[in-house]
Amino acid sequence: MRRSPCKESMERTIATIVEYTDQKRPKNQYPERIISPVRSGPCCFSDMEEIGKSQEDSRWVFQYKRCKKCGFTVRVILREIPDAALAAELRKTLANSFVRNVPD
Ligand SMILES: [Zn+2]
Repeated sequence: MRRSPCKESMERTIATIVEYTDQKRPKNQYPERIISPVRSGPCCFSDMEEIGKSQEDSRWVFQYKRCKKCGFTVRVILREIPDAALAAELRKTLANSFVRNVPD
């Protein structure tokens, strides 16, 4: 089974302010912290509202959306920022892993 490096690197790259827990009441303390239920409900499809403005980190433009009813929050990736240095780094990593896979 192939691993999915894209998804993993995405999770590492973006620091989230959302805490998913059912132990605390949902709370919107944007931009410091958002407490969200662990699971979304049927209400989340129709009652999501945008929280704050779209943000950029080193690689992604993203925005938080929060359900007005239950407080469930998701971070939506709006687009990826093209980055030549990052692309070069990725190529280097791929080249290295290829070398490691060659038997002695
Ligand atoms: Zn909801």
